[in-house]
Amino acid sequence: MMTQPATSTFPISDNVARMQPSSTLAAMQAADALRAAGANVVDFGAGEPDFDTPENIKQAAAAAMRAGQTKYTPTAGTRELQQAIIDFYENRFDAHYERSQVMATSGGKQAIFNAVVSLINPGDEVLIPKPYWVSFPEIVVFARGTPVFVETEESGFVLRPEQIEKAITSRTKLVILNSPCNPSGRVIPPDEFERIMQLLADRGIYVVSDECYLRFVYPPARVFSAASLGSELRNRLCIAGSFSKTFAMTGWRMGYALAPQAWTKAMLNVQGHSTSNPNSIAQAAAIEALTGLQEPVAEMLAEYTARRGWLLSALKDIPGLGCNEPEGAFYAFPNVSGCFGDVIKNSAEFAQRLLTEEQTVVTEGAAFGAEGYIRMSYATSMSQLHEGIERIKRFVQRSSK
Ligand code: PMP
Repeated sequence: MMTQPATSTFPISDNVARMQPSSTLAAMQAADALRAAGANVVDFGAGEPDFDTPENIKQAAAAAMRAGQTKYTPTAGTRELQQAIIDFYENRFDAHYERSQVMATSGGKQAIFNAVVSLINPGDEVLIPKPYWVSFPEIVVFARGTPVFVETEESGFVLRPEQIEKAITSRTKLVILNSPCNPSGRVIPPDEFERIMQLLADRGIYVVSDECYLRFVYPPARVFSAASLGSELRNRLCIAGSFSKTFAMTGWRMGYALAPQAWTKAMLNVQGHSTSNPNSIAQAAAIEALTGLQEPVAEMLAEYTARRGWLLSALKDIPGLGCNEPEGAFYAFPNVSGCFGDVIKNSAEFAQRLLTEEQTVVTEGAAFGAEGYIRMSYATSMSQLHEGIERIKRFVQRSSK
C-alpha cells in the first residue's frame, strides 16, 4: 500500500523553504473564515478592485472563445496583443518598443518573477525600497539573491535618489521600483524618478519598474511611466505592467513585460518552460481593454477619488492615527503607533484585535517592512468605508484607554 508522506516530513526544497507565506493572502483567508462563520465583516484587506470587469472586455473574451481562439499562442502572446501594448506606450508615453521587447505574462506578478529569476545570481543584492509589496523580497530570495531594504520613512515613503545611493554596494545588481506604491500609495515625482534612473544607469544597475497601478493617480500627481524616459535610461529597465487593477481583471491573470531584447529573450525562456503563453481568451480580452472604451477606467478612477477623499478626512479625525496623503493606487497607509501602549503593542496586534473585536480586516504594516503602520484598501464600497471607520474609531477609543 502506498503511504502519503506526512507534511512535516516532506523534503521541501531549500529554495521554497526560504519563502515566507503571503501575509496579504493570510489576511484574506482570516476574513473568509469569519464570513463563513456568519460574521458581518468589513474588509479593508483586499488588494483588488471591487468592480466587475467592464462589459466590453467580457464580450471580447466571449467572442474569442466562440471564434476558436482556444489554442496555444506564441509564448510572448499574440501579435495583436503585443501590438496593442506597443501602441499604448507609443500613444500615451511617446515610447518606442519593438515586438522583441514585449511579452504578455500571466499577471504582472509573472513579469516580475521572470525579470528577477532571469537576472539574479546567488549573492547578488537587490535594492527594495520600504515599504514594499510582499512578493518582491520573496521572489528575490527564490532566485537566491539578497534583498537589501531601503529606508524611506524620513521622506514620508517617497523614495529619494540619495536613499538609493546610500544603499548601493559593489554587489548591487537590481533595484525594484513601485510607483504608485502598494502599500503606501506614494508616487515618485517624475523628475525624481528620472534622477534615480540616471544614478542607476551611471552605475550599470538594472531596474524593474512595477507599474501595476500606473493609471490610478490622483491630481496634482501625474500618471508617469518609466517608458517615457530617454532610451539611454531604459537600457537596463524592465517595466512590469498589469491589467488586474486598471481594468478590474484580477482573476483573468494578464500582465506584460517591456524590456531590452536580451532580457526579454531570457524571460521568454523562463516562461516557455513554466507556464507558456498566458490564457488565449484572456489575451483577447486584454486587447479590448487597451484598445476599446476607456470610460470604465475613468469611472473607476472617479469612484476611487471620492472614496479616497472621504477616507483620508475620516482618518484625520481618529486620535492616534496619522496618514500621509497617498497620491496613487487604492490604499491608505496610516501610522497607528499613536495607539500603542499596554493593550496594543504593534501593528500585527492592532490588525489581529481589530479583526476579532470588530470583525474588520486591515493588513499589518510589518508585512510590508513598515512596523507601526496598517494598510487599508479603499477598493470597497462607500457604505463599507463608513461602517469600517465607525468600528475603527470605537476600537481605538477602547484600546487606547
Ligand atoms: N505588483 C503590485 C505592487 C501589486 O500590488 C500586485 C497585485 N497585488 C501585483 C504586482 C501583481 O498583480 P497581478 O499579478 O494580478 O497583475
